[in-house]
Amino acid sequence: MNFLSALVRFENLHEVRRLCHWGPIIALSVIAICSTMAIIDSVIWYWPLDTTAGSINFLMLLNWTVLILYNYFNAMFVGPGYIPLGWKPENPKDTQFLQYCRICQGYKAPRSHHCRKCNRCVMKMDHHCPWINNCCGHLNHAYFTSFLLLAPLGCSHAAFIFVMTMYTQLYERISFGWSTVKIDMSAVRQFQPLMPFSVPAFAATLFALGLALGTTIAVGMLFFIQMKVILRNKTSIESWIEEKAKDRIQHYQTGEEFVFPYDLGSRWLNFKHVFTLSGTPRGNGLEWPVHSKCHQYTLTIEQLKQKADKRVRSQVQYQAVEDYNGACCPLNKGFRTFFRTPCTEEPRIPLSKGETILATRGTKWWMYGDKIVSEEEMRAGVRVRGWFPRRCVEKCHYDTAANESTSDKKVN
Ligand SMILES: [Zn+2]
Ligand SMILES: [Zn+2]
Repeated sequence: MNFLSALVRFENLHEVRRLCHWGPIIALSVIAICSTMAIIDSVIWYWPLDTTAGSINFLMLLNWTVLILYNYFNAMFVGPGYIPLGWKPENPKDTQFLQYCRICQGYKAPRSHHCRKCNRCVMKMDHHCPWINNCCGHLNHAYFTSFLLLAPLGCSHAAFIFVMTMYTQLYERISFGWSTVKIDMSAVRQFQPLMPFSVPAFAATLFALGLALGTTIAVGMLFFIQMKVILRNKTSIESWIEEKAKDRIQHYQTGEEFVFPYDLGSRWLNFKHVFTLSGTPRGNGLEWPVHSKCHQYTLTIEQLKQKADKRVRSQVQYQAVEDYNGACCPLNKGFRTFFRTPCTEEPRIPLSKGETILATRGTKWWMYGDKIVSEEEMRAGVRVRGWFPRRCVEKCHYDTAANESTSDKKVN
């Protein structure tokens, strides 16, 4: 019943237009190809339905498909939850602790950020995911993460079926000669399936195997990243705010101790905050339980300080120590840089050794910022802005990056 009642909760179904985007089109095609091929392969060639195990296998495959699509569509259509337009905190005095969003004509509630793609302020925004063409945030965090777990599991099952189908079908047809491998597709197998395993079926299975393995690895990585976010109750954006906070405190030597307010103290509590039996996470997305040393506005005040600080000493300055060609998934920058490329359509910027970049945000493996261009280019309005691998840059030290007159100005 839980499942059915959840199914009719697709309140935002009018947003079907979200499907008209490369992300959902590719994601749904991969799901369709892998599940259809796995079912066809197992029913016709590998595990016919006239055996109990074959039937269980068939039901399992169907089960993966249903669960994957259920979580995928919920992540997409339930959405992250948006801050109501024109939102204000209950106590008007609290507005001094919050940033104002001119587009939404309201204050940004704690943990919310404005998404340029969604054009709304998003509750507990983590990132905008092009694959669901929506933001990953408060309301859909559990659906999104369940999808990231189920997709690799389903794809591994499918990959097993593809490998076994090809192995059993080709086993007696392959002959090895001196420097040749021959596959005789005309040979008849001992038991006669409904259809012979033809060359197109072989090609389709091989193609689906590639998709299934690729999905297992790529989506599996994303699952671990999101689990870390959930178990620490710290979104990717908040990790960056924390890093900047430590940087600011160290720079001005204010003696403050930064305590991240939303970590509930244990992984299990953080987990239960997002994953609930009803499918809806705890809380209204506007107010959050916080650490005993903090209050509702600890992090938003830190954000305001950082914003004020930006005017004084600009963003964190980095210098390129390695060349980078601007590829989305660079092959020569390490395994993690390759797999953890940010899931966004924002550009990547090529770097040459010695160039200076002002970084505004980043992940553990990637950073986003503006390259400092020559005076001439600046006058012509050239702006080079985008992502680059973190390992290609090194932080500049303030005694060289910031000038003396600003370094003793404290922000409190
Ligand atoms: Zn907004
Ligand atoms: Zn968004």
